Amino acid sequence: MFKILKQSIRTGIVTNSFPAVIGDPPDGFRGKPIIDYARCTACDKCAEACPTTAITVEAKAPAESNQKILSLNYGDCIFCGECEVACPEAIRLTEDFQLATTEKSELLSQACFKESKTGYFEFSEVVAQAPPAQQSAEEIGAALKEKIDKLFGRSLHIREVDAGSCNGCEVEITALSNPVYDIERFGIHFVASPRHADMLLVTGPVTRNMEIALRQTYEATPGPKIVVAVGACAIGGGIFGKSYASCGGVDTVVPVDVYIPGCPPRPEALLHGILLAIDRYPADRLSTEE
Ligand code: SF4
Ligand code: SF4
Repeated sequence: MFKILKQSIRTGIVTNSFPAVIGDPPDGFRGKPIIDYARCTACDKCAEACPTTAITVEAKAPAESNQKILSLNYGDCIFCGECEVACPEAIRLTEDFQLATTEKSELLSQACFKESKTGYFEFSEVVAQAPPAQQSAEEIGAALKEKIDKLFGRSLHIREVDAGSCNGCEVEITALSNPVYDIERFGIHFVASPRHADMLLVTGPVTRNMEIALRQTYEATPGPKIVVAVGACAIGGGIFGKSYASCGGVDTVVPVDVYIPGCPPRPEALLHGILLAIDRYPADRLSTEE
């Protein structure tokens, strides 16, 4: 006992201060890719390199072949960095990981390019900017405990549902319970049964074999309940897409409240999404949902 105490004192506090302090990500961390439209010519090299078709370059419409739309969908992105390799002049991967949103459409960035007299395409206008400015986890975290008490009258209980994930997302979710991320300091606990849960944290593209199980888990969760789709697969099928074996995303089976991009999302990104889900939870659903 004395030895353990001595060891604990020697080790000190290992829990990080997120969301109050956002620490530096590890070397080589790949976050949100951004495109410098002023340097982009809509040449399609990045789209060809992208393994998930998160980036596409298409003619605006058949009748407007002198205009192209460049789209980047952060929900489909697996943060592999291949687009940056293909076009280092215009694309850069940042260290930004707080990308969770409540609307799937907010994960789409689009810009229009027009053909110039020289035959090259030049940036014309931003069509959609994603993700929009979100509250940081630091801002959300400040009011978190109060909100959990108000909404649920106690701590928040999460049931994790693996709906066909490769388990990469599970590795990061498991890390939330270790001493470094220590999700229990927010009054958030993982539980084994949906009957005890307030939130479902769902990973995977939802394989056809898991479709009924996910629906039944959702129905077994008492209201008010929050559903969070974790990772590119859960948002839109990811690298598995939609097929005879895959439903192509959680919201094709049950309603989703928050989407957390990543493949997998790092633990701080998961925390940001979970805090966002609680923060954005509409009070009026408390009485209407069972
Ligand atoms: S980082 Fe990878 S998945 Fe994301 S847009 Fe670039 S090439 Fe596509
Ligand atoms: S998002 Fe990536 S890590 Fe998560 S289940 Fe899908 S492939 Fe695996």
